[in-house]
Amino acid sequence: MTHIASILSTLQVESVTPHILRIPLDKPVTTPMGVVDSTIAVLVNVKTTAGEEGWGEVWCNFPRFGAYHRAVIVNKVISPFLKSRSFAGPYEAFHAMHKAANVIRLQSGETGPFSAAIAGVDIALWDIVGKREKQPIWKLLGGKSGSIQAYGSLGRSKGFEPLVEEGLKRGFRAFKLRCWGNPDQHIDAYVKARAMVGPDVDLMADANSSFPLENAVEWANKFKDVKLAFLEEAIPVDSPLDAWKTLSAGAPMRIAGGENMIDTNTITTATNSGVYGVLQPDMTKFGGFSGLMDLSHQIVAKGIRFCPHMFSAAPGLMASAHLLAASNSPDGSLEYGIEYNPPRDEFIQREVTNGRIEIGDAPGLGMTLDSAKMDKYRVAVPAY
Ligand SMILES: [Mg+2]
Repeated sequence: MTHIASILSTLQVESVTPHILRIPLDKPVTTPMGVVDSTIAVLVNVKTTAGEEGWGEVWCNFPRFGAYHRAVIVNKVISPFLKSRSFAGPYEAFHAMHKAANVIRLQSGETGPFSAAIAGVDIALWDIVGKREKQPIWKLLGGKSGSIQAYGSLGRSKGFEPLVEEGLKRGFRAFKLRCWGNPDQHIDAYVKARAMVGPDVDLMADANSSFPLENAVEWANKFKDVKLAFLEEAIPVDSPLDAWKTLSAGAPMRIAGGENMIDTNTITTATNSGVYGVLQPDMTKFGGFSGLMDLSHQIVAKGIRFCPHMFSAAPGLMASAHLLAASNSPDGSLEYGIEYNPPRDEFIQREVTNGRIEIGDAPGLGMTLDSAKMDKYRVAVPAY
C-alpha cells in the first residue's frame, strides 16, 4: 500500500482564493441543526507559482452564515501561511497548516472552522498534484478501481415517494431517509419505502443525533421490521461510549456515525470501539485526503463499512468519491444527496449504474468549474 506521506511533489503556492456560492431556497427547511434557508458552499481555488490550479471545498452546511467566517479564515489565516514557504507535498502542507493554526484554533475554540478550512485547501493541493502526475487522485493514492457504490440520500422522510422513484430510475440501489425525533412519526414512510424498493435495495435512516439516550434502543427497534442497513447518528457523537455500546448491542441494525468526528483521535477511538458497523467521516469538515487516507485504511481493515459523508458541492463530492475508491473498501458507499443541488449538479454529472458510479481516469479530481456558472451564484467574501 502506498503511504500517502510518501507521495512527494513540491508545492509553491501563489494564491488561495475562497468562493462562496449561495442559492436561496423558496421554502426554508427546519432541521435539528437549525433552519436551512439556502444552498451554500465554500469552494477554494489554489494556484501554484508554476500556473497550476486545483479546487477544494470547505464544509459550511451549518449554520449557513458560518460560510462567510470560514471563507475569511481561508483568506486571513491559511492563505498567508501557505504562500510563505514551499512544501514537499500536500501531506506536509496539511500538517504544517494544522500546526500553524493550532494556537488560534485553541484560543478561539473554533476547531471546526479551522479544520474545515484546512481540509478544503488540502483537497485543492491533491487536485494539483493529481493533474501534475496526470493521474486521478484515487489511483495516485493506491486505489484499485474507480468504480464506487453510491446511495441516494434524502433530506426528509415525508414526501419521499417521487424522489425514491426517480432515484431507482437513475440507478440508485440504496436510499437513506431522515428520521428526526420519535420514529412513530416516520415509520409509515419507511414501511412504504420498503414496499416500494423491495427486499434487495438497502434502506437506511439518519436521526441527526435526535434520539434521547434513554430511548435510543427502544426507538432503534421500531425500525426492526423494515430491515435497515444502518441507523445513523441516533444519539449525539459526544454521548458517553457506554451509551453507544448499549445502543449497538440493543439495535437490530448496524450503527453508523462519523460526520461529526473532526479529529484523528476521535475517529481512531471510534474505529477501535467495536460500536460502529459504518463510519462516515466528512473530508471537507476534517482531514481532506492527507488527514483521512490512513484513517480510512484503518476503518476498512477493521471490517467497518466506510461511507464518506457528503451533502455539498462538486469538489466535495468528487473528492469523497476519490477517497472512497482509494480506500479499497469492499462495501463502502458514498452519500449522494438525491435532490437537485446547483453547486454540484451544474458542474458535474455522474451516471449511476446498478448503484455504482465510475469516477473515471481524468487527472486530479476529474472536474472543472465553469467560472461563468459560478458567477450566477457567487456572493462576496467579507473583506473584514
Ligand atoms: Mg448524517
